[in-house]
Amino acid sequence: MDLNTPYDQENIFAKIIKGDIPCIKLYEDDHILSFMDMFPQSVGHSLVISKSATAVNLFDIDQDNLCHLIKGAQKIGNAAKIALKPDGIKLAQFSGNAAGQTVFHLHFHIIPVFENGHILDQTDPTDEAKNARLVKIAELIRKEINN
Ligand code: AMP
Repeated sequence: MDLNTPYDQENIFAKIIKGDIPCIKLYEDDHILSFMDMFPQSVGHSLVISKSATAVNLFDIDQDNLCHLIKGAQKIGNAAKIALKPDGIKLAQFSGNAAGQTVFHLHFHIIPVFENGHILDQTDPTDEAKNARLVKIAELIRKEINN
């Protein structure tokens, strides 16, 4: 999957957009969808993807859709900032598998950073508990999203 890989309509994020597989949704409008990352790198790790563009990576997307996407990243990042009070927030985007991209539908990661960890890091590591925790964190972020 290099930087010229064509878009695959059956990639996992395309299936999430179609509703064929579930996600823990944070926000959706005509242009973007945001949901919790299933394998979070930190408490509150979320993703923002374009619904209106079928772009594999940053270099495939038109500027209007890129604007929708980056505005969405700011909106969700701001909600995570208020809801979770992290010390910092990383915004990440990987283009090409050599850069670490594993899902070939353009997305931004919003990764809150906590210098001393977060209380929700310390709890039950079972899959059920992890999923319940993601749902709870999503509720906290969702409350702070302004439309
Ligand atoms: P990247 O390495 O930039 O392509 O990131 C892809 C991200 O998607 C990773 O952080 C995965 O944990 C995440 N991911 C993969 N499948 C799902 C899914 N079904 N629901 C939510 N996040 C997912």
